[in-house]
Amino acid sequence: MEGFFICPFCDHREEPSPKLARCPRCGVPLRWEKPVPSLRPEDLRGRGLWRYAAFLPRVSPVTLGEGGTPLLEAKVGASFGVRVFWKMEFLNPTGSFKDRGASLMVSALRELGAKILVDDSSGNAGAALAAYSAAAGLRARLFVPAYASGPKIRQIRAYGGELVPVEGPRPAATLQAQKACAENPDLVYASHNASPFFLAGLTTLAFEIAEDLSWQAPDHVVAPVGGGGLLLGLFYGFSLLLSLGWVKKIPKIHAVQAQACAPIVLAWERGYAEPEAVEPGETVAEGARIPRPERGREILAALRATGGQALAVSEEEIQKAQRELAQSGLYVEPTAALAPAGLLRLLAAGFFARGETVVVPLTGSGLKTS
Ligand SMILES: [Zn+2]
Repeated sequence: MEGFFICPFCDHREEPSPKLARCPRCGVPLRWEKPVPSLRPEDLRGRGLWRYAAFLPRVSPVTLGEGGTPLLEAKVGASFGVRVFWKMEFLNPTGSFKDRGASLMVSALRELGAKILVDDSSGNAGAALAAYSAAAGLRARLFVPAYASGPKIRQIRAYGGELVPVEGPRPAATLQAQKACAENPDLVYASHNASPFFLAGLTTLAFEIAEDLSWQAPDHVVAPVGGGGLLLGLFYGFSLLLSLGWVKKIPKIHAVQAQACAPIVLAWERGYAEPEAVEPGETVAEGARIPRPERGREILAALRATGGQALAVSEEEIQKAQRELAQSGLYVEPTAALAPAGLLRLLAAGFFARGETVVVPLTGSGLKTS
């Protein structure tokens, strides 16, 4: 396999493998990287995620037509003199942005000989893993809280995903998944939060945004943060484009969390390098209800590197943003309304300068929670 797994904080690097590796010194999940290819934008071919294959590991793609989602200019910033674009990620094949990560991760793990892929998501990541495993001819086994139910579970089951209910709170499913993989060498832990391949797939979001803006980076991106993959994918994607000279800057990337579960916002406000685990409250944004993000230190470093803000929005703000999106014709799930809620707050506060460009990913379809 091309490239290396590298530590975001030190010079540790190792050969890519199906095993989920952590830095032996820093204890953090690794990310995948290869030398920047010599390439011009005119050399890009095809559509969707695999248009950017030159920046990804060389693999035989497992694809369902992911990526290539529209960048739609919104009316919401007009009265403030700000250009706002929605990045329509809920139009991906399984209804969320996670398809980018799953497409690349499943492709790479199949290439490395994996047969049974394990994760601990009962949500969009689980659905994406089940779908891409089905497309790849691999098995997907999802450890989920016993209480999990609803459309996302039905979606996972429909793709043929094997569901393993785990009694107890959410972290119990994670522990059980890790234990199963440690005991059975046929199982590969394909964690959407920690896999270097999953994160590499998410960098394509930055490439598409920049290309749709004629190879200009927007001034700002407002992103919801749960596990932080979306924010980090944007950060590494724009960083790569900057190193190629295809864009002139990295946008300020702002993180939005629900007040009910905001470990990144709390750590950012207090100036901590790492988030502390929080006791999560109830929130409609269940997809981002992650009390201790595995890549927390990396998220905070990326936020600070771009000069981004971190803000926590209330349940009322999330629901208002979701309602207003629907009334403009965009049907997204509550978790996908986190970033728009943050956007509305920043617009109202006069945070953006006139003439600035802001991109907001809409991460998941409203049909997911109907
Ligand atoms: Zn390290």
